[in-house]
Amino acid sequence: MDFLDRILSWGMRAPDRVAHVSATRRMSYGELVGRAATLARELATTLPNDRAPVALVGHREPQLLVGMLGCALANHPYVPIDDALPAPRVARIQEIARVATTLTPDDIDRLAPVGSALPAPLARAGDDRFYIMFTSGSTGEPKGVQVTRGNLAAFIDWMLGEQAFTPGGEVFLNQANFSFDLSVMDTYLSLVTGGTLVSATRDHVADLRALFTLLRETPFTTWVSTPTFAGMCLAEPAFSASMLPRLRRFLFCGEVLPREVARALLARFPSAAVWNTYGPTEATVATTSVRLDHAMVEANDALPVGRAMQGTWVEVVDADGRVVPEGGRGEIVIAGPNVSPGYLGRDDLTRARFTRRHGHRAYRTGDWGRYRGDQLFCEGRMDQQVKLRGYRIELGEIEAHLRDVSGVRDAAVVLVVRDGTPHSLVALLLAEDARGDREALAREAKAALAAQLPAYMVPRRLRVVDRFPMTANGKVDRAALAAEAGAR
Ligand code: AMP
Repeated sequence: MDFLDRILSWGMRAPDRVAHVSATRRMSYGELVGRAATLARELATTLPNDRAPVALVGHREPQLLVGMLGCALANHPYVPIDDALPAPRVARIQEIARVATTLTPDDIDRLAPVGSALPAPLARAGDDRFYIMFTSGSTGEPKGVQVTRGNLAAFIDWMLGEQAFTPGGEVFLNQANFSFDLSVMDTYLSLVTGGTLVSATRDHVADLRALFTLLRETPFTTWVSTPTFAGMCLAEPAFSASMLPRLRRFLFCGEVLPREVARALLARFPSAAVWNTYGPTEATVATTSVRLDHAMVEANDALPVGRAMQGTWVEVVDADGRVVPEGGRGEIVIAGPNVSPGYLGRDDLTRARFTRRHGHRAYRTGDWGRYRGDQLFCEGRMDQQVKLRGYRIELGEIEAHLRDVSGVRDAAVVLVVRDGTPHSLVALLLAEDARGDREALAREAKAALAAQLPAYMVPRRLRVVDRFPMTANGKVDRAALAAEAGAR
């Protein structure tokens, strides 16, 4: 049975089981599957049969799950978009994806109301695109990573084989927005195992008391979050096994898992496994994993990201694509059934990153890596992509937007790192008019960014400077800029 059939079968076997909880709303498997089938019929009747993407705009509402499954059944890939994004960004994504239609939770209520239920799923195939996730693009535009049903099936099969989930017995924490591929881990692993997915909404994150109430009152068994989020929870001394007595595992992905976070979790949750997983959106959520133990945490300053999932090749290669000997550093390349067919409508970007290896599609990650024994270590980026609180950001995209601001001649954005942890973004600007009002220009530039980019991409500080430090070969010296920005 493939993963979509498994999800549908929970609608028949356990229609009353709770599939999703978000704020005060609960949705059962019966409701989810029934409404998804209704929505699929609606889409099949109203949209041309061209598999064009459908945008789903919202914030962790149960209707979005109806939307995802409804699109899957109607064979339209969905494009999840968080409703906190500025309108021009949403419009650009809709344009790039050439969406057939956009659905909000209200639209889904109208098209597939509670109580509606049509069985008979529609047809679909493994290489159909299942979802398209937009991520920051260095050229100044977001880029859409296309993930097929087969890609997702490979990821899910691997995780089901590795993690002994209890069918019908798991309660998953959903911390990431549905527009980030980390959420795919909790959402689909919960749905295929007949689990309950509990979303922490932005209200929970804005008010930590509400978050800890949610954690206390929910019998979570599986924690899926960015390491940053777990680190934030660890600041509360009561965050321990007595708060979450049923917790069995932490699954992390998306950014460096700091050793102190892993160490504290192992100490405070002696009955829970702590897993580090690694992978880019382009290879469907995660491709390597390792269960960390005390010995591993004590033996390594930087923690390993583990071994490749079955059926994939995760290799460290030199500039010519040759595998470097164990212990050597190179670029991490992933080949296998989980690798995406590429970026939507961007053959140029796809060609630059995607190749073939071992008879499979392969993706050059742009991550420096090194094997020590059978463990892969991820050693940072080869380019200007950064992670801040788990968000993937191309500094070049922010810079491109800044250069469009009137009065700005050039811009450089740097990530400030404090105590080894990504702290904030700082933008340095060169003004067209060296004698103009610098404060005013920085303010205008910040407002221009806030109107177009997600909040996490707007630098905390912007400063107009006289010049950028340069390296010996005439490039902007980013290391010097970051050190200077961090020092102030
Ligand atoms: P995303 O596509 O948002 O999942 O971001 C993928 C990038 O996040 C990777 O290419 C890495 O640079 C980084 N990343 C993901 N997982 C890890 C991890 N466990 N440790 C270190 N970096 C990671």
